[in-house]
Amino acid sequence: MTVVNLGTPRSAALRTEPSTEGRPDTRDLVDRYGRVARDLRVSVTEKCSLRCTYCMPEDGLPSIPRDDLLSAVEISRLVRIATRDLGITEVRLTGGEPLMRADLAEIIGLSAEAAPGVDLSITTNGIGLDHRIRSLVDAGLTRVNVSLDTVDREHFARLTRRDRLPAVLAGIRAAHDAGLTPLKLNAVLMRDTLAGAPDLLAWAIENGCRLRFIEQMPLDADHTWMRDNMVPAAELLDVLGARFTLTEAGRVDPSAPAEEWLVDGGPATVGIIASVTRSFCSACDRTRITAEGTVRSCLFGDDETDLRALLRGGADDAEIARWWRGAMWGKQAGHGIGADGFVPPVRSMGAIGG
Ligand code: SAM
Ligand code: SF4
Repeated sequence: MTVVNLGTPRSAALRTEPSTEGRPDTRDLVDRYGRVARDLRVSVTEKCSLRCTYCMPEDGLPSIPRDDLLSAVEISRLVRIATRDLGITEVRLTGGEPLMRADLAEIIGLSAEAAPGVDLSITTNGIGLDHRIRSLVDAGLTRVNVSLDTVDREHFARLTRRDRLPAVLAGIRAAHDAGLTPLKLNAVLMRDTLAGAPDLLAWAIENGCRLRFIEQMPLDADHTWMRDNMVPAAELLDVLGARFTLTEAGRVDPSAPAEEWLVDGGPATVGIIASVTRSFCSACDRTRITAEGTVRSCLFGDDETDLRALLRGGADDAEIARWWRGAMWGKQAGHGIGADGFVPPVRSMGAIGG
């Protein structure tokens, strides 16, 4: 019998206030290992128009009852608290696929009002972006990252279980035309996509996009990830190096996980996020809110703290901020992939918000 991981948490989110014992008296989201969260990822839905094999189960994630999802008003309230009271300087909406939310422009508009001047972006697969980009930019969207693993249509269909490459490319063009440049593209590095990586990079450069490859993490709902089968960044560098001259440019932003290489002397670059083989956990500056309104301090930590109950139970902003600080104080040191006894998290990437 095949056991399918539904991508939902093993245990209910914490409804008791997390301990802050030993925590210094600071407004920021600090943890026991000296890290400070500045980058907020908010998942707005579990739904998606694709079924990428490294992320979603074939039938999609179990649907979250509508009332259990945070509303646009609730999301914007958390964005206000995070940016005004907790030191967050950057907000990214993700999912699932954020474009599956019909009220995405409202979420962006209310969040932009709640956090004036703060960088507000989405991570998207790009499907439908061409129809909605104008309203999203008018609402206050400042940046878009699009996920694209291959420019080969047949390969794309196999990888995502949907024949939608033309729609993704239309979305990328629309974001470009709307002035959201340079557009960042994210590609997950897989054995199956390695040979096509140089073509993808050539396409990205020709189309004015900045491509970043991400090592595949054990966050697929089907739990098929295997350490021995994953493609390490070093192997990608060999494959790209056979076609391009790559010059190491290092980490452009110390808190950004991507290491950059100049391509053929520049100015074009390619980024590599070696999340597994060169983990950047010690510099992680992320805090996450799931679509159901729980704080997740680490992609790999299943302990979550329920802010939705507070939002709906009449808590004031100070109380919500205090619980959020407590949740981050308990952040684990690192993902632990490769350590003895490593167990992947119960939620898959699409259920957390990547
Ligand atoms: N649907 C949107 C998209 O695909 O951009 C947003 C959500 S998706 C979960 C966010 C990012 O997570 C995407 O760039 C995707 O490639 C990445 N991702 C998903 N599963 C992953 C995995 N197992 N390892 C590494 N990255 C993964
Ligand atoms: Fe959907 Fe994004 Fe996951 Fe692909 S990576 S299945 S587009 S949520």
